[in-house]
Amino acid sequence: MASSTKYIFITGGVTSSLGKGIIAASLAKLLQSRGFSVTIQKFDPYLNIDPGTLNPYEHGECYVTEDGAETDLDLGHYERFLNVSTTQDNNVTTGRIYNNVITKERKGEYLGKTVQVIPHITDEIKSNFYKLGESGKYDVIITEIGGCVGDIESLPFIEAVRQVRWDLGSNNFLVVHLTLIPYLSAAKELKTKPTQHSVKQLLEAGIQPDILVCRTEHHLPMDVKKKLALFCNVQLNCVIEAMDAESIYDVPLLMKKEKLDERVMAKLKLSTKTNTELEQWKDFLGRLKNPTQEVQIGLIGKYVSLPDAYKSIIESFTHAGAALECKVNLHLISSEEINKDNVEKKLEGLDGILVAPGFGERGLEGKIETVKFARTKGLPFLGICLGMQVAVIEFARNILGLEKANSTEMDPNTPDPVIALMEEQKNIVQMGGTMRLGSYPCELTKGTKSFTAYGKVRINERHRHRYEFNDKYLKPMEKHGMIAAGINPDTNLVEIVELKNHPFFVGTQFHPEYRSTVLNAHPLFLRFIKATIDNKTSDI
Ligand code: GLN
Repeated sequence: MASSTKYIFITGGVTSSLGKGIIAASLAKLLQSRGFSVTIQKFDPYLNIDPGTLNPYEHGECYVTEDGAETDLDLGHYERFLNVSTTQDNNVTTGRIYNNVITKERKGEYLGKTVQVIPHITDEIKSNFYKLGESGKYDVIITEIGGCVGDIESLPFIEAVRQVRWDLGSNNFLVVHLTLIPYLSAAKELKTKPTQHSVKQLLEAGIQPDILVCRTEHHLPMDVKKKLALFCNVQLNCVIEAMDAESIYDVPLLMKKEKLDERVMAKLKLSTKTNTELEQWKDFLGRLKNPTQEVQIGLIGKYVSLPDAYKSIIESFTHAGAALECKVNLHLISSEEINKDNVEKKLEGLDGILVAPGFGERGLEGKIETVKFARTKGLPFLGICLGMQVAVIEFARNILGLEKANSTEMDPNTPDPVIALMEEQKNIVQMGGTMRLGSYPCELTKGTKSFTAYGKVRINERHRHRYEFNDKYLKPMEKHGMIAAGINPDTNLVEIVELKNHPFFVGTQFHPEYRSTVLNAHPLFLRFIKATIDNKTSDI
């Protein structure tokens, strides 16, 4: 296959959670800063068609793209680092590959052949590897292979990578292997053996890694690097040290210092197009690390024991905080632990409150008490998706006096379904990929806080939900001070609610956190932090 697009594959060894996504995003950032158009795709070895049906405790947050794909949270890192959108094609699972192959088999497309892992599954994987490259838009495509080498389920992906080398030729193909060099404190030694073994496994599969990126808590001395180079069959200058970083946003600069981008470019015969030296990125880091003020924000949700479940929200606070030179101290508080009697104590000392997205009844009452607290104490509040729905329920119950108001998700028989299913959702039986997903337009009402935040009328934001604000209740709500600040111009659905007489009380049916990036902090998060700073200083 003749190709002008260069393909970089990133595999992982020794253990999971080494941060392949961050290394992939950092390398992509460095190449982007040298003028290349880069995208990243992730291939996940599990059998779910996408992570949309996974419990956040299993796999962290489900990220949503503009075009409505429910994806691995690493795609969030790719977008936040690169400031470019990803699509349905940027995340592929084993489940999707098998589904495609089985669908073709049922259609008779294999013309009577026995359908097998090799070549049919591997061919399907390869055609998905190449899909984004076919657009001709990218100079470089980085493919992250989920899991660890040696896992049974990633074998077909590894085999497909082996075959790709021969399709593309060695100037267009490169494998970066991310590995761990553990430190044994009793022996005061860094150990290379686990890496030697994981590389051996790759070699057994027919893949010679070109570059080793070595996660370590201590600097790698030259003798350790030499040993790794010798036993793993890589050039000495391709053994790259990746020390633990203070922030994920330091990693691109650390990798630049270690010359990861230069090694990659030399191997792929690429020369720099334009060099931006990452000025804006450094400016962001400077602000992040030198805050002039700080605020305490409560993130109230039911998945708080696994912060990865709120990855994009947490990162949005980092971006907005840095832009305002404000350290955002996030306090993750379980909504299940909050009740009428302890709410004041639990939320004491907070300058602002975010009620998180979520599903199901568990922790709902705690969220309602939290919203009431923010509303009555004049504390800046941002409610996202379920957080917005809860704000509506709280208002209906405590201001309109509709005691049993609820979402039909929680109580299908509520007499006051202030949040309810849309008509087109009513007959859906299949759970996967059937929510309202992806980007939809919204028109903001002039004079609202949301309008001030965005500074324009027409916006687009990403969605992931089934239930909606029930229009029937809009008039009485508006009469009592909860207004629709944003409406979908095509369907008239309420997308944002706000309280009129409050320093900052905004609930969004969409997820602003999916669009916040390092270089473009999200306007609503910026405004929310600004309101908490103002509110805090007015209290003194
Ligand atoms: N469970 C709610 C719905 O489906 C909210 C979803 C969310 O917060 N992402 O509408």
